[in-house]
Amino acid sequence: MSKIFITRKIPDVGINLLKEKGYEVDVSEKEGVLTKDELIAALKNKPYDAVLPLLTDTIDADVFDAAPNAKVFASYSVGYNHIDIEEAKKRGIIITNTPGVLTDTVAEHTFALLMAISKRIVEADSFTRAGKYEGWAPELFLGTDLKGKVLGILGAGRIGSRVAHHAREGFGMSVFYYDVKRNEKLESDVGAKYFDSPEDLLKEADFVSVHVPLLDSTKHLIDKERLGIMKKSAYLINTSRGPVIDEAALVEALKNKIIKGAALDVFENEPNLSDGLADLPNVIITPHIASATEETRSKMSQMAAENIIAVLDGNEPPNKV
Ligand code: NAD
Repeated sequence: MSKIFITRKIPDVGINLLKEKGYEVDVSEKEGVLTKDELIAALKNKPYDAVLPLLTDTIDADVFDAAPNAKVFASYSVGYNHIDIEEAKKRGIIITNTPGVLTDTVAEHTFALLMAISKRIVEADSFTRAGKYEGWAPELFLGTDLKGKVLGILGAGRIGSRVAHHAREGFGMSVFYYDVKRNEKLESDVGAKYFDSPEDLLKEADFVSVHVPLLDSTKHLIDKERLGIMKKSAYLINTSRGPVIDEAALVEALKNKIIKGAALDVFENEPNLSDGLADLPNVIITPHIASATEETRSKMSQMAAENIIAVLDGNEPPNKV
């Protein structure tokens, strides 16, 4: 009987699929993230044939050593920067992810952040709850319109493209994008304008939304210099991965009004926040929940399980990285 280890409780649908296949499924009972030592110890308990890790688990050579029978690590995430892909390749271990099923959800969350920061929703909510509202006033919490503004997308893949559609079709914004690959479909669908370097886009965008994967080439893609060339009136939104932005530089830029505001779902050293970030009024922060809807988290669970089943059945998994 094939043995599967899941590093933390996920929605039941995937766990049930694996059990229906007749596999022995062990789910970590720890409330939080397993430390690396705990993960290694858990994997050594049984000769697991497959592992279902989360983006909070670092999967490297030591972890692969602890699960020598595992043919597949099926991550419950689309990003796979937490997995040493080269090491997996060397060992012939298959890595899979959960692309596509979370695109709409993450794009919606991105727009929720963009709307909330530009309309000052969180600040205004706190003000009202605190009993400070004394009646309508002509200049109370003035925000920013979206219509006619430029949205700059960094990384126009699945999620970035979906955000671009919302911006153009829902709010009458213009879309500019920077990517290492040109996305001609997006250009014809929403009239997106391509930039082959981030600088010119950053100069012109009223909103910048980040959707690149975390790679060596995208770490600190937004740094002090690039924050410096953004408009003073611009907002930065990040639902990709924290280290794509130099967070300390962002805190300084926000404090010094180099840009107007930022809305972040991801942080450079999760779950820790850079000093001063949470004290700034012109920031909205959510705890890495951009894909967290009941529908999507269930689909991710199912997809990760289907990837495992395919590999253990000797088939090509649908979402091999
Ligand atoms: P995708 O692969 O479809 O799109 C990524 C795009 O980035 C591609 O078009 C690619 O060409 C481009 N790109 C790669 N390197 C680049 C570089 N150096 N400069 C500019 N562009 C570059 O991925 P996706 O499904 O749209 O997901 C994007 C990222 O969003 C994921 O990698 C993941 O890290 C993140 N994500 C976060 C959450 C969350 O909960 N906050 C959820 C899902 C995904």
